[in-house]
Amino acid sequence: MIPYDVAVVGLGAMGSMTALELARRGTRVIGFDRHHPPHALGSSHGKSRIIRQAYFEDPRYVPLVRRAFHKWRELERECGRRLLVQCGGLTIGPPGGTLVAGARGSARAHRLEYEELSPGSAQSRWPVFRLGPEEVALFEPYAGVLLPEAAVETALHLAVRAGLDARFGEPMIAWDSADPIRIRTTAGEYSARRMVLALGPWMSSPLPGADLPLRVSRQAVFWYDTRARRSELGPDRVPVFLWEWEPGRCLYGFPDLGDGVKLAIHHEGQATTADMAPREVENGEDNEIRSVIRSRAPALLGAGRSGGSACLYTNTPDERFIVDLHPKDARVVLVSPCSGHGFKFAPAIGEAVADLCEGRGPSVDLSPFRLSRFPPSAAAG
Ligand SMILES: Cc1cc2nc3c(=O)[nH]c(=O)nc-3n(C[C@H](O)[C@H](O)[C@H](O)COP(=O)(O)OP(=O)(O)OC[C@H]3O[C@@H](n4cnc5c(N)ncnc54)[C@H](O)[C@@H]3O)c2cc1C
Repeated sequence: MIPYDVAVVGLGAMGSMTALELARRGTRVIGFDRHHPPHALGSSHGKSRIIRQAYFEDPRYVPLVRRAFHKWRELERECGRRLLVQCGGLTIGPPGGTLVAGARGSARAHRLEYEELSPGSAQSRWPVFRLGPEEVALFEPYAGVLLPEAAVETALHLAVRAGLDARFGEPMIAWDSADPIRIRTTAGEYSARRMVLALGPWMSSPLPGADLPLRVSRQAVFWYDTRARRSELGPDRVPVFLWEWEPGRCLYGFPDLGDGVKLAIHHEGQATTADMAPREVENGEDNEIRSVIRSRAPALLGAGRSGGSACLYTNTPDERFIVDLHPKDARVVLVSPCSGHGFKFAPAIGEAVADLCEGRGPSVDLSPFRLSRFPPSAAAG
């Protein structure tokens, strides 16, 4: 049996984009997923994802997100399908808070276009938002909404067309570091020269030789019935937004793209595992969101809650990603842990991982995502 050049295990956001990149380059690639992506059991569902460039978390993400922005547009042109709705983005909070000061710092460091507005100016431009007297709004035009299910579906469709051998509903159950690498799934045995592990929240299950310091959390998101005011709350009128309503606490939201306004709290979800997490949301789970939004942007709550779903964050201790070679086997690339903000980067990460698989240095800086930043006891098993 001729080994594949690369096996990509996990075909969610990161795996599908990696597989697409590899297949396009003429690599002989096989991909496995335990489910049938796009699905609602991992981290890449829920109809919308924010993409923004004035990255409050760290200016080092800016070149990566710029590359991703370019790749999203390229992907859209190729498939003739809309994947990115550029409605602009607002970061709201105290001017010296984590969100606004961080976003401003990244925008200045990388000369991104942005405006900082007082509460009065922000409200006259976007009447839906009522800022507090001590808050400001930072607006960036190159921000918007990505459509995650459409994106994963498109990437897989194009990857298969370019030669990806895709195996859905076929989980990998074991692998060993032979030469070539041997991969065992529920359906058979395969061999590949390199392997990419992009397991999303399943990455926190024990991984041979690499005990990754990951904590999975269950994050609930909610939709509100804003049909009656859709024309005022659509993406041409309302940007995506992040709001630091209390120090260190962040609520975010999306305009009505046809399914109602979507709102959620960033982080703060319960610790869980990919196999155990309840995916249904309960009555009352959005009490805090409603109480925060009621005084700040009540129109977004419309006629009340119309839906909800639970999604999983895979958090590292410093909330940066892990994109690195396996510490015990450099033929294996570990990719994905998202800490709740990875989707926007997926096509750029896919490109960088394809470079790693080909033994080339990636054109973007992956050094912030190395495993060696964690204490050896936490990172190596
Ligand atoms: C509520 C929520 C909101 C978010 N908001 C944003 C946002 O606004 N902007 C942003 O940029 N990011 C956001 N994120 C983060 C982003 O969505 C994730 O970083 C990204 O989707 C992770 O993709 P992934 O490929 O790592 O994981 P997934 O898409 O979950 O893919 C992992 C895949 O691996 C498969 N798998 C697992 N184990 C095996 C196995 N043994 N064999 C075969 N297959 C296997 C799974 O079935 C799954 O399909 C959000 C996440 C959530 C949950």
